[in-house]
Amino acid sequence: MTDDFSPARRRLVQNASLGVAAAAMAGSTFSAVAAGAAAPSAQAGVGGTRGLVDPRGLFPKPPFVVQSQTWPGLASKMNPPPDHGETSYKGSGRLAGRKALITGGDSGIGRAVAIAYAREGADVAISYLPEEESDAKEVVDLIRKAGRKAVALPGDIRSEAWCQQLVQKAVDGLGGLDTLVNVAGRQHNYDSILDISTEDFDWTVKTNLYAMFWITKAAIPHMPPGSAIVNTASVNAYNPSEYLLDYSMTKGGIMIFTKALAKQMIKKGIRVNGVAPGPFWTPLQVVCGQHDEKLKTFGGDTPMGRPGQPAEIAPIYVQLASSEATYETGQIIGASGGAGNP
Ligand code: NAD
Ligand code: MG
Repeated sequence: MTDDFSPARRRLVQNASLGVAAAAMAGSTFSAVAAGAAAPSAQAGVGGTRGLVDPRGLFPKPPFVVQSQTWPGLASKMNPPPDHGETSYKGSGRLAGRKALITGGDSGIGRAVAIAYAREGADVAISYLPEEESDAKEVVDLIRKAGRKAVALPGDIRSEAWCQQLVQKAVDGLGGLDTLVNVAGRQHNYDSILDISTEDFDWTVKTNLYAMFWITKAAIPHMPPGSAIVNTASVNAYNPSEYLLDYSMTKGGIMIFTKALAKQMIKKGIRVNGVAPGPFWTPLQVVCGQHDEKLKTFGGDTPMGRPGQPAEIAPIYVQLASSEATYETGQIIGASGGAGNP
């Protein structure tokens, strides 16, 4: 077990760490939190800056307890629990009045984005699998606590018909759509191409590429000029793991899809960008996303020496959706603790 912090100390350092993660982004709105003050309303700002915080030791480091869950996994069952910014993210109206659909918004990176968007003033629809209802319910509660509308949309995005309904239900529930964040994904490790069945290959490609294509295609007609699309690629799009052949192929596809679509969509005034995460501590990794040995040392091979927490990447998604980033399109922004290429 690597988390050697007491709960109180961990809360303090987590909250402090978020300041540094967010300070990298223009206009970032995290704030340092007084010891023990977990509620966002109790956050004590530090004069618009977050002070200096060393990011290296702020979150759990490997070795991690080897653990596994059945697909699709739950954030609530992870050890240590991921930090999605629940107690720390503080918004400042950067997405006021926006209407966002976030796929995979129940857990991991998508949950951190949902929390951040709601606290920045957006109404948020989240898509997830029915098995993830308990994680999704926590996110819905957090969105509503931020005073925003939440729309919960369980269903399997490997179906084109569901992808079309998903977008329509988001539009109906939110009263429009101006922000689409494609986060949902499937990752499974295989030693060899010879171990990947056609069904496995189809599962990965349907989830990561087809669903993104179908959802984006259904969403665009609803999106007015000024809207934003943010896709989720990976460091594996640039430097693929030998154990993630099919997954890496889809992530490279997402990167190129993002760049090509940006060229089309700017003609409609819609910006399209992507994020390329390095190792982040999320359910994806404990449902066969990694070999046991790799899970134990997860994130340890980055210069940072630890995996990222979802809360540390949400500010990039805020920035890319925000109308502050008007010249930003066709870009892939990395967050990988010093590793990776983008
Ligand atoms: P996660 O497990 O929390 O999120 C993945 C989500 O995808 C699930 O919560 C689920 O709701 C959704 N999903 C998967 N299959 C689906 C289906 N058939 N129908 C509907 N929803 C489905 O893990 P995460 O790490 O936050 O993953 C989010 C994204 O980040 C993925 O695209 C992943 O490839 C990418 N990513 C993650 C890492 C990492 O280290 N965690 C690194 C690079 C990229
Ligand atoms: Mg999930």
